[in-house]
Amino acid sequence: MDQFENIWNKIKNQLQINLEEDVYNEHFANISNIFKVVNNSVYLIAPNSFIKSKIESFYLNRLNGMLNEYTTDKYMFKIITKEQAAEELAKAASYEINTPEKDLGNKYKTGLNNIYTFENFVVGLSNRLAYTSAMKVADQPGVFANPLYIFGDVGLGKTHLMQCVGNYILENDINKKVLYAKTDQFIEDYAKAAQRKTFDEFSKKYENVDILLVDDIQFLSGKTQSQLEFFKIFEKLKESNKQIVITSDRPASELYDIMSRLTSRFEWGLSVDINRPNLEHRILILKKKLHAETADPDLIPNEILEYIASIFENNVRELEGALKRVLFYCTAFDYKFTIANAEDALKTLVNSKNISNYSIEKSNYNNVLDIVSSYYNITTSDLLSSKRKKQYVFPRQVAMYILKELYDLTYKKIGQIFNGRDHSTVIYSIEQISNDLETDKEKKNDIEKLLVKCGKKAS
Ligand code: ADP
Ligand code: MG
Repeated sequence: MDQFENIWNKIKNQLQINLEEDVYNEHFANISNIFKVVNNSVYLIAPNSFIKSKIESFYLNRLNGMLNEYTTDKYMFKIITKEQAAEELAKAASYEINTPEKDLGNKYKTGLNNIYTFENFVVGLSNRLAYTSAMKVADQPGVFANPLYIFGDVGLGKTHLMQCVGNYILENDINKKVLYAKTDQFIEDYAKAAQRKTFDEFSKKYENVDILLVDDIQFLSGKTQSQLEFFKIFEKLKESNKQIVITSDRPASELYDIMSRLTSRFEWGLSVDINRPNLEHRILILKKKLHAETADPDLIPNEILEYIASIFENNVRELEGALKRVLFYCTAFDYKFTIANAEDALKTLVNSKNISNYSIEKSNYNNVLDIVSSYYNITTSDLLSSKRKKQYVFPRQVAMYILKELYDLTYKKIGQIFNGRDHSTVIYSIEQISNDLETDKEKKNDIEKLLVKCGKKAS
């Protein structure tokens, strides 16, 4: 690879000498490093498909000729666009995220992944109670609350927190028998035991433990035999004060098709929920993840973290994935960590979240500005101004929110509309309104009315 970087630099120098300055600048100045070398193809990244096709039509033969002056085997350049390269990296990144969990390598097979620790779990309003309870359970297994039942939507840290308990206990006492099992695994184990008549082995695995962690219990739904078996194990463990921790995507009372003698027992101990983290919390999570990912946590400026945190609101796993993607994208291509590059890196992800990227006509957003200002009885120029009186600030935030909601303008673009405000102001304004929508009925009503007036289609 290094060899080809050198060759490419030499070729670039030659091109710079031989081509008109603006021709060189347009086509080649921005192609910095080699993306990859595979099967005698050397991949270069063009900034867009227009440049790609121009290079292919007019310069490729010449480039290949130059390349082969430096190599003994026959190599050829291939040109791909930034987007194609990003797609490929994203696939690699998501592969990395989804790689199977490592085992602790303990003498007892725990099923735990030792990356999940209390230290790297970021605490905030949405998970404080769950975190504190898990800590106490880890400190006093079988005593403080049994079972501990943790519930919440997908990607909010239930598995992470549950495994913290196991890892913590093992750290303090390597001889403790901790077993982490996904509910799927439990069901499968039971089915195998039934088929092979190896119930002893099965019960031993699940009953002969000090701590049993069962993840995603909702999957027991409809599995009557497995439920009965789990009931027996639960009773045994509970009787001998062995700690049980359970996670679920919903409260025990809302579990579907699971026998009530089980669900009622899930409520015997302590039920705690994990909610979606707010913006501030999401930024802290990103900072923590960045620390884990790179030796230089200042590598990515705060504003980029704010930007990422502002898009991925519902799922910490996605939030993490987005960060990795931006990291990959900018380091691989040697791009600066700017909002524009982060937007590029995340384009396909953001699209797949069903956000349309169409460019909005000026008349459309002027319409929004008119409607909002007249609704709150202020002038449009006050709306766009930087006056800080409450009577202007709130409508301004509402207008920003509506522009984002209806047209999905970038934060940068919204900032520009409002007299060049910084995108971070826009992010905070919109977050403010999102909070109001959750807490203030009257404001919610107003905003919903305004959204419809501005053209939101009934869903
Ligand atoms: P769930 O089990 O609720 O679907 P996970 O525990 O698998 O979610 O979490 C998804 C990802 O998000 C994991 O990589 C986890 O480390 C991370 N994560 C979630 N919440 C936090 C948090 N509060 N602090 C740090 N990382 C978190
Ligand atoms: Mg999970």
